[in-house]
Amino acid sequence: GFRCGIVGLPNVGKSTLFNALTKTAAAQAANYPFCTIDPNTGDVAVPDKRLDTIAKVAKSAQTVPTRITFVDIAGLVRGASKGEGLGNQFLANIREVDAIVHVLRCFEDDDITHVEGRIDPVADAETVETELMLSDLESLERRVVATRKKASGKDKDAIQQLPVMEAALAKLQNGEPARTILPDLDPEGRRELRNLNLLTSKPVLYVCNVAESDAAAGNAYSKAVEEMAARQGAKSVIISAAIEAEIAQLPDSDVPDYLEAMGLEEPGLDRLIRAGYELLDLITFFTAGPKEARAWTVKHGAKAPQAAGVIHTDFERGFIRAQTIAYDDFVSLGGEVAAREAGKARDEGKEYLVADGDVMLFKFNV
Ligand code: GDP
Repeated sequence: GFRCGIVGLPNVGKSTLFNALTKTAAAQAANYPFCTIDPNTGDVAVPDKRLDTIAKVAKSAQTVPTRITFVDIAGLVRGASKGEGLGNQFLANIREVDAIVHVLRCFEDDDITHVEGRIDPVADAETVETELMLSDLESLERRVVATRKKASGKDKDAIQQLPVMEAALAKLQNGEPARTILPDLDPEGRRELRNLNLLTSKPVLYVCNVAESDAAAGNAYSKAVEEMAARQGAKSVIISAAIEAEIAQLPDSDVPDYLEAMGLEEPGLDRLIRAGYELLDLITFFTAGPKEARAWTVKHGAKAPQAAGVIHTDFERGFIRAQTIAYDDFVSLGGEVAAREAGKARDEGKEYLVADGDVMLFKFNV
């Protein structure tokens, strides 16, 4: 599956947030046993109101949300790239995730020690990013020497890889993360960059962990983070981990009143999960029948057979075509049969690019 790693300095609220994420009712949705591969990894249901609407239209007996994985990656301290703290383990764990959720302390609390002795989320972000850049710099400096040698020996792969490596290296040497070369790359270059599996080429979402009283409007700290994120072309969300921890404990029926008292429209975790989903560049398609309405995930840019393959590998191998109904048509016309009668059920072939919200039915050979 697709994985977001939660990182940040100690005592910023990572575990509080992770525990809330994996404790909510949504995480334990019906008929999908909440699975913990290890205590720091949790599959989380992606909240999507469209799924309930589809289930209502299709009169499905149940709904099954799609999921993404969050990993709580503890152990980052200043000096991690030199092996301080759990440095090496920490960096290895980040290497294995597809995107980074970077939690920043935007709350004041004299009882909770800040490792750097002051509240400054932008400086904290730089501290963490610096460790990741140092690690990338070291690994890339090593690799680029070998690749230069191979490229001068006319090795085709090396010739292809070298420009992206050199560009990323130049950025890192200049104190900038490798992802800053992304806007200059074509799709081939982007693939090369991904293959390098650098820590600072992964997409980042900043999470501003604010005090309960600031959950609705944010504060000066979260504003500073938002500005930093905007400069980097990254996204940020405001959350109060304390509130989310509270919500995770409440019976479902009490949640709406509590949210209203806090001035919130929905749990911050719902926003966080959706933001994580976007960060991973994922889209959702649906299947709908009397038994269940179900949401499924593919990477943005996936074609119909790949979508079929998410459901079952046989569906991909034997793919013939996919009856596809746009979400809006499915809902406004009142379901599959009506959409077909209205000519809104398209027969799509192997080259069809799946669109977010498609309601699909696959025809395949076994
Ligand atoms: P981690 O080291 O980043 O995983 O941080 P933890 O989640 O263990 O939190 C460290 C301490 O900060 C704990 O005592 C939490 O209860 C507390 N904490 C976390 N989030 C908040 C918050 O939003 N407000 C306040 N006041 N305390 C928080």
